[in-house]
Amino acid sequence: MAHSAALGAREYMVLALTWVHRQKLVHQSVYVVVRRCRREQEHKRHEHRQEATDLRHRDRCSIRCGDIRKGVQLAANSPSKLLKKECAEILEGMKQYNEAAVLFEKAGLYDRAAQMYIKLKNWNKVAELLPQVQSLKIHSQYAKAREAEGKYKEALAAYETAREYDSMVRILLDHLNNPQQAVHIVQESKSVEGARLVAKFFMKMGDFASAIQFLVMSKCIEEAFTLAQKHGKMDTFADIIGNDGRPEDYRSMALHYENSMNYFLAGKFHHLSGDSTKGLKLLLKSAQGAQEADAIMLAIDVVGEANSEGLAKQLIDFLLGEQDGVPKDPKYLFRLYMARKMYRESAKTAVIIAKEEQKVGSYRNAHDMLLGMYQELRKHKIRVPSELASNMMLLHSYILARIHVKRNEHLIAARLLIRVSNSISKFPAHTVPILTSTVIECQRSGLKKSSFQFAATLMKPEYKDQVDPKYKKKIEAVVRKPAKAEEEEFPSPCPFCENMIAETELNCDKCKRTLPYCIASGRHVVKGDLTECPYCHFPAIRSELAKFVESDDPCPMCNRGPIGAGELRIFPDAEVFLPLMGEE
Ligand SMILES: [Zn+2]
Ligand SMILES: [Zn+2]
Repeated sequence: MAHSAALGAREYMVLALTWVHRQKLVHQSVYVVVRRCRREQEHKRHEHRQEATDLRHRDRCSIRCGDIRKGVQLAANSPSKLLKKECAEILEGMKQYNEAAVLFEKAGLYDRAAQMYIKLKNWNKVAELLPQVQSLKIHSQYAKAREAEGKYKEALAAYETAREYDSMVRILLDHLNNPQQAVHIVQESKSVEGARLVAKFFMKMGDFASAIQFLVMSKCIEEAFTLAQKHGKMDTFADIIGNDGRPEDYRSMALHYENSMNYFLAGKFHHLSGDSTKGLKLLLKSAQGAQEADAIMLAIDVVGEANSEGLAKQLIDFLLGEQDGVPKDPKYLFRLYMARKMYRESAKTAVIIAKEEQKVGSYRNAHDMLLGMYQELRKHKIRVPSELASNMMLLHSYILARIHVKRNEHLIAARLLIRVSNSISKFPAHTVPILTSTVIECQRSGLKKSSFQFAATLMKPEYKDQVDPKYKKKIEAVVRKPAKAEEEEFPSPCPFCENMIAETELNCDKCKRTLPYCIASGRHVVKGDLTECPYCHFPAIRSELAKFVESDDPCPMCNRGPIGAGELRIFPDAEVFLPLMGEE
């Protein structure tokens, strides 16, 4: 203990270990210096002193015995990881790799232990340590050794840990006959070299489409193009290139398709290569038969992107039929204006097209087209033309009436149908059925005078024969008992001037404004109960739209939803919705 006290008096504690190399009979002394902090707790310091003294004592024994194995054992049994590590390093320096490995492992230094076993080519021990080994290099070394021995599955697993994907692909293709997994690895890792290996594999198999795909992935574009040309796989090549090609790739493809007289694809690829003039010319040449729609739509994109007056004029001439005497569907003109960001012109065209749709009875199409137009105009902060707004209001009233008939809200349906029937000339394809529905819904909800009025219209000679026999008797009965009066419609205040006007009246006779209408009821909106659809931002009477929310039905205007109950924001005033009505 006197010795121990003497050590404690010094700032550093020096611990000497002596190892005897048994085979070479060389004595070697090593001083392992362990630094101890002076400020450590007194009892802890005491513990260390005790440990040092014990070790010193036992190592003297091992020196006397001249036994390296016993020395290793003593170090192995010591609780100090540092001691084990330093002893292991000494042993490594003495090329005693086996003993060094044991001590490194016991010190928890698995990477270094594995390195020792690699030097010894003891692959089984390396394999045991692998789960704890961090170093990718060791995994890689192990993988290579296993591969050299023909142990491909083990090699594959180790390459995976080492993240050497190309080697994995090579083993899967050359030795494990598993191209699926190889393909999967290439797709996941985006390995260029792996893709090249897979392409080579598919080429050998005669699967040229797959070979082309992987050649493109491995950036061997020219090789892929040549292969595609040689084996008639240009469509595959084009699909794979998609929008990521270089101008020269697109030009090669364009020339290929032009030579094989596929003008649609030739036009498309000339455009993608940057030659819009040639692209448009070939697209218009291909705009015939089944391909007409696709070719024109693509031509519109070409002109929209090229932003050139000359090209736009060529396309407009084509659409107006100045080349072949056949004017094309006006919806293309609308799209062209949209693509060229000429929103006012496209709005005008949209109104014309929607009118055509409405005329033939495609009310949903007309409605959705105008709604789409609304959104575009609003996005670009352009005022909605009043004609567009009033057409939209009528179409929406008609669609809404049908929804309310289904919801058994006959009074609302009747009021909306009266509005539609008052402009029945705008619905020429369904004049008689709409008037018939109006008579029936008015009758059902007690609007006897209106019912009589529209029934009388139906009995006019030009309509009489077209009335559905199912309803004919009923309508004749309505006409026979003329009703002179019915209950007045409820009034509600104008949202701008508080003037009391009928609920479904959309023009205020006092402030002379066109009033925003509720998308759920068709009535004019009121202050204090105002909201909007969170999707299309059209206004609604909050309590009316809430009924759709409650029944989980979508927005009656944009058909999106269901709308969450918490999404109906309260709007304090209706001014913000005026632009939707075509008002400033
Ligand atoms: Zn008013
Ligand atoms: Zn909506």
